Amino acid sequence: MSFQKIFLFDFDGVIVDGMHEYWNSSLLACEKYLNSPYISVDQNLYKTVPNAFKKIRPWVKYGWEMILIVHEIIKPENPLKNHNKDDFINNYHQNCQRILNDNYWNSEDLQKILDKSRKCQIDNDFESWVNLHNPYFEVINFMKELQKRKIKTGIITTKGKIFAEKILKQLNISPEFIYGYESGTKIKIAEELSQTYEILGFLEDRKKTLIDIKKNSETSHIPCFLADWGYLKELDRFNLSNEIKLIKLGNLMELVAI
Ligand SMILES: [Mg+2]
Repeated sequence: MSFQKIFLFDFDGVIVDGMHEYWNSSLLACEKYLNSPYISVDQNLYKTVPNAFKKIRPWVKYGWEMILIVHEIIKPENPLKNHNKDDFINNYHQNCQRILNDNYWNSEDLQKILDKSRKCQIDNDFESWVNLHNPYFEVINFMKELQKRKIKTGIITTKGKIFAEKILKQLNISPEFIYGYESGTKIKIAEELSQTYEILGFLEDRKKTLIDIKKNSETSHIPCFLADWGYLKELDRFNLSNEIKLIKLGNLMELVAI
């Protein structure tokens, strides 16, 4: 029996650049649903994505983290700015945890209000919401080329499935499946998929995820590609093990030959 061939993709930073959407949706969540006494949201804040937010984005694993980052950036007292962001990212996970604790928040509630903020924008003005995302057309063409060659495509994202689905539909992409944060960790999903598919590659912009795929005996055979155009930390491109290949946007089509 030969397995159906499939190529796996992360979504944010790989298929689309959603920086404006992350900022907008997290800011709207802060404004409408967070009820924090420490912030008031000036409408001008929606216009520009602050540098500090862009620089911290590569550390983000789950959407809820963006809400607390936005909260820290827009606080009038001791706000998180570009010049002091290094202290924040040097202890990223501890800092996220500390802010959750200080405010009596929990990550599930923050994720819920991020999803609510997205849903609210979709209900009000779907077009404007979709337009906050900039697709990487090279990736979309690559996906179409795979489909032409009867290789399936699958998306594994830490976003809510419904949101990735809506954007992909708009881009005319119909993957075999989309797994969102609701489905568990990427490693677990990849592990299960490798029982039923021959996985030709996994394209991701979070290096740690690829390292974990390679460390897991059930998934270590999956060829891993780090997306050079994604939200990479400065050091990600260096000291890559030869099991993880850095791939540039312009070289994607070379992977069709695999
Ligand atoms: Mg990503």
